[in-house]
Amino acid sequence: MMKAVLDHIGIAVNDLPASLAFFRDALGLHLEASEEIASQKVRAHFLSTGHSSLEMLEATAADSPIAKYLAKRGPGIHHIALRVDDIHAALAHLTVRGVRLIDERPRPGAEGALVAFIHPSAAHGVLVELKQPAAAVPLFRTVGRHTLRDLELITLSDGFIHLDGGAMFGTVPKTLWEKRLPPDDANRIPLGMRPLIVRGEKTLLIDAGCGDKMDAKSAAIYGLDRSYHLDHALAEAGLAAEDIDIVLASHLHFDHVGGFTSRAKDGSLVPRFPKARYVAHRGEWHDATHPHERNRASYLQENFVPLQHAGVLTLVDEGAEIMPGVRFRWSGGHTPHHQVVMIESGGETAVFTADMYPTTVHIPDPWIMGYDLHPMDTLAFKRAFAREAVDREYLLFFEHEPSMAAGYLRDLDGKRVVERVL
Ligand SMILES: [Zn+2]
Ligand SMILES: [Zn+2]
Repeated sequence: MMKAVLDHIGIAVNDLPASLAFFRDALGLHLEASEEIASQKVRAHFLSTGHSSLEMLEATAADSPIAKYLAKRGPGIHHIALRVDDIHAALAHLTVRGVRLIDERPRPGAEGALVAFIHPSAAHGVLVELKQPAAAVPLFRTVGRHTLRDLELITLSDGFIHLDGGAMFGTVPKTLWEKRLPPDDANRIPLGMRPLIVRGEKTLLIDAGCGDKMDAKSAAIYGLDRSYHLDHALAEAGLAAEDIDIVLASHLHFDHVGGFTSRAKDGSLVPRFPKARYVAHRGEWHDATHPHERNRASYLQENFVPLQHAGVLTLVDEGAEIMPGVRFRWSGGHTPHHQVVMIESGGETAVFTADMYPTTVHIPDPWIMGYDLHPMDTLAFKRAFAREAVDREYLLFFEHEPSMAAGYLRDLDGKRVVERVL
């Protein structure tokens, strides 16, 4: 059974400025995007109408199919487009039913989509386009290594969770973020969980993903995907849990420290890294163990209280050096004591940005998560930090970025972009 939803209505126009004067200016529709589709000799302009859009089609050459249509029928509705999840399956489904197709195979359309047309004779006089939107974000699932002078950095993965896109982008309208991180049917976007290993004098692990203690109900809510998780990543990096000397928490939210503890065979909760000392910020620890209504769902006691009982916990303050070259730096904002981790060796610097820059899409200063308790602190920190990161060429690690792990922040004609490294 194919499920199709209205994507857009295509309208052939022979006077674009006049058409925009009506559809955009008189009706007040927002012109979202324009794109040239060279293969069709057509320029398409999309006006948003909520979940669908109007596509103004202009011919760019005399032999364009749109030019021929205009010559024969004049301006007006040219086609309707239905969005499907799997265009190959949809075409197979229609072929079996004897539906006459113009395109038996999908071809590239605007905005990276795949499209195919059904013949109007099969669709009661209507030209119907099927469209499969550009593929979802390509997920980066694996391990990456980088040498920072005397330190080795290894980015790991504990899989992916799916969080509400609106919550992830706070006051930023969906029409802006959905193009960068397309949401699923439940409005959730995919987010990585990427702990980082720093190997120097000791082997240090920063954060540990959400771990394996999440119940089925929560796993469904968060769309948990741990088909490849921290154990796989450690094995791929040639490490075992016993090799970790220090485990450091950027903050104590469940998607960062769920992997700090695990359930033993007798049901008790034990440190997941048997030889490690666990280090957390003193203020963050206080807040996590004294939650209020607004942060309670993020601070799950089972993830960190057992560390104190096991006697493996060390609490430190701002600026504390965790091991040579690695220190906490206060960012606040997300939580009052949220820390980024500065990693320095021989004049080179990497920064584990945790929930300050959860993804590369959060690079613009005001693109701040709705989860942040003190967004104005986040803003102040980001403003200053971004300049510093560009000037000093910090290698930034993005813990929740779905499609990459680390890169340099560059200033490109006044626009900040990330140059991918891992
Ligand atoms: Zn957090
Ligand atoms: Zn987080």
